[in-house]
Amino acid sequence: MTSLSDLPIRDDLRGKTPYGAPQKVVPVALNVNENTHPVPADVAADIVARVAAAITTVNRYPDREFTELRESLSKYLGHGLNAENLWAANGSNEVIQQILQAFGGPGRSLLGFDPTYSMYPLLAAGTGTAWISGERDADYELTPRTAVAEIRRHDPDIVILCAPNNPTGTPLSIETIEAAYDAARGIVVVDEAYAEFMPDGHPSALTLLPGRPRLLVSRTMSKAFAFAGARVGYLAADPAAVDALRLVRLPYHLSALTQAAANAALAHSDEMLAMVGEIRDQRDRLVRELSRLGYRPYRSGSNFVLFGGVDDPRATFEALLAQGILIRVVGISGHLRVTAGTEAETTAFLDALAALGRPASAGSAVTAGAATLPVGSQS
Ligand SMILES: *Cc1c(COP(=O)(O)O)cnc(C)c1O
Repeated sequence: MTSLSDLPIRDDLRGKTPYGAPQKVVPVALNVNENTHPVPADVAADIVARVAAAITTVNRYPDREFTELRESLSKYLGHGLNAENLWAANGSNEVIQQILQAFGGPGRSLLGFDPTYSMYPLLAAGTGTAWISGERDADYELTPRTAVAEIRRHDPDIVILCAPNNPTGTPLSIETIEAAYDAARGIVVVDEAYAEFMPDGHPSALTLLPGRPRLLVSRTMSKAFAFAGARVGYLAADPAAVDALRLVRLPYHLSALTQAAANAALAHSDEMLAMVGEIRDQRDRLVRELSRLGYRPYRSGSNFVLFGGVDDPRATFEALLAQGILIRVVGISGHLRVTAGTEAETTAFLDALAALGRPASAGSAVTAGAATLPVGSQS
């Protein structure tokens, strides 16, 4: 049998492993940060009607400029943005890939701050861009000072800031983004996949766009917007940056069906986002309860929580999976990540975890009773 290594694959891809979050059919899937609430029935009916209308003309190529979608997205974002500031693709992963195709590539580099989104180094590898792993402060925070020091040290062509950061949940201050932009000579990408889950009053990087043509802000409909299966990600930036992406996108990359479905969903954005408040409540509950159970949860501005103090993450993962609860091993020793689900799903997770007993590092229930927010540094 032929194996991958027998093929004349590019040398820089040899030995690499693909993105591989386990996909299992389980009652409680809290492993890839989806919105676990289904699409409301009336919204689903409208989406189906628009997709049905679009299918009658799929003999023709779709609108290559997806003009209606760019208009819908600019209205959804606000901040004075117009259709010419907007771009979209099949998931924000594709948007980021296009950014690397246009601004990265052989001889160029991408700096991110680990631990961060596992797709960044894979997208860098696929486009021949060198991945540079920058450092964070204690508890996975990223201060302006540290971000600037890492940018000066590595002088990358592209900087990517994940705000809030996956897999740690850490919110990123607008001051860090501004300082990173001023220190960088190249493109600065802010990945705001989880922006809708941030606390009210925390400004988005969108507020920094005017006068900053090297700043690109990516978003997705996959998380808060409950649209992961439809594959729609997007970007807001100076129109010149959008022009750069036109050079590398495949012609007609967004299908007519995708465009119709996304436009219909955006027409119902209030209903699609109705569960965000409840998801934030469940996230805050996870932080409180994990701490009470003797673990060390980190502060989170997203729809998931990273927690430390796990004696054997793989064993805990397997014990929960045996009860139909799927969470995530993220490769940080002593840590696991869990998505905030519905109230019932979150309860199922917390009850099952409690039944496994207190972690060894927690000490007795009596002394750990006063545990508050995370202090733990990476173990
Ligand atoms: C989930 C996620 C995305 C979204 O990917 P899509 O391709 O839009 O589904 C992007 N960035 C981060 C950090 C994520 O966690």
